[in-house]
Amino acid sequence: MTTNGVLLKQYAPVLKEAGLMRLNISLDSLKADRFRQITRGGRVSDVLQGIDEALRVGFKEVKINMVVMRGTNEDEIEDFARISLEKPLEVRFIEYMAFGCRMIEERKFVPNKEVMDRISRLGELIPLGKEFTPILGPRLSAMLRGPAKLYRLKGAMGTFGFISPVSQPFCGDCNRLRLTSAGKLRACLMAGGEVDVKAILRSNPTPEVIKRAFLEAAILKPAEHSGTGEAVMCQIGG
Ligand code: SF4
Repeated sequence: MTTNGVLLKQYAPVLKEAGLMRLNISLDSLKADRFRQITRGGRVSDVLQGIDEALRVGFKEVKINMVVMRGTNEDEIEDFARISLEKPLEVRFIEYMAFGCRMIEERKFVPNKEVMDRISRLGELIPLGKEFTPILGPRLSAMLRGPAKLYRLKGAMGTFGFISPVSQPFCGDCNRLRLTSAGKLRACLMAGGEVDVKAILRSNPTPEVIKRAFLEAAILKPAEHSGTGEAVMCQIGG
């Protein structure tokens, strides 16, 4: 489940009990004021307590997703990396991607090479293979883990990873399809390409027809980054 984590303290036990295995938590700042500004009113303490609760109740796959933005939160890179020293989770540094609308300020982009250089000052970085996972088998783990390149700081309880869609595009390995709020199966965040599964599902389809719709969406995936991504995330779905 992908979440902003604000209610995680309350719901982590019941989610674990229900069989949920993996949590992706969006968190772009550890500073109360800054977090409030970015999230328009959120309390970072709620998220941090939620993360601790998730670990306490036994989640083994907890990821924190930080989108690094110049002039906004790049001064917190080391603080985020330090979380992996003390907690058995994965911190993922995600490159800021220009899509959605023209308001995106490209000057906010920070290449992950720069992020890695800064973290390397904290200690020895040990690269981890894609097969690394606490609970999943190698094949499923690599598929679910997607494009993150993983490392561990020597002596750390957790790990950290880099997702670099801008400086190192990974369209060839991208295995995600997204269901939009309008009921369309979307092949790519940037280039679009959609199959109207809502219409298909309302026509009382056979399983074979549904399967074909997913295959058609997968075939629409581009070979490389293209388009400008005119849709925004609230339309596409996370
Ligand atoms: S296929 Fe689309 S969503 Fe996937 S990595 Fe490439 S641009 Fe991003």
